[in-house]
Amino acid sequence: DTLRHDPDCIFCRILAGEIPSDRVHEDEKVIAFKDLHPQAPVHVLVVPREHRRDVTELAEDPALLAHTATVAAKVAAEQADGDFRLVFNTGASAGQTVFHVHAHVLAGGTLAEGEL
Ligand code: 5GP
Ligand code: ZN
Repeated sequence: DTLRHDPDCIFCRILAGEIPSDRVHEDEKVIAFKDLHPQAPVHVLVVPREHRRDVTELAEDPALLAHTATVAAKVAAEQADGDFRLVFNTGASAGQTVFHVHAHVLAGGTLAEGEL
């Protein structure tokens, strides 16, 4: 079952409170916390509580995918001027390093085009 808590998954451990994180939002479906290595003035990860590998598995639950986007917009409105870039790295060759789905919310200042 891909949705179960995975003790070897760093984001499952953050969700369980075993690893500290700087949370900016939490509800029954997702949490959002600041990225450890920010690549923009605001860099927050929105993470569904269920362990799913990537955005293609997240898209199997359209309401959860939509909720993830809604929370991303709320975070961008609260932490910056409301403009944001939403990124799902999907697969190792696309730069995915944590295989528990997460949306990168990048905001604040003027974002360069291109990578991440
Ligand atoms: P990916 O490369 O999989 O799209 O993104 C993983 C992101 O998770 C990276 O931007 C990385 O900085 C962030 N990250 C990895 N481990 C931790 C952690 O323990 N805490 C936090 N807050 N971010 C993490
Ligand atoms: Zn996980």
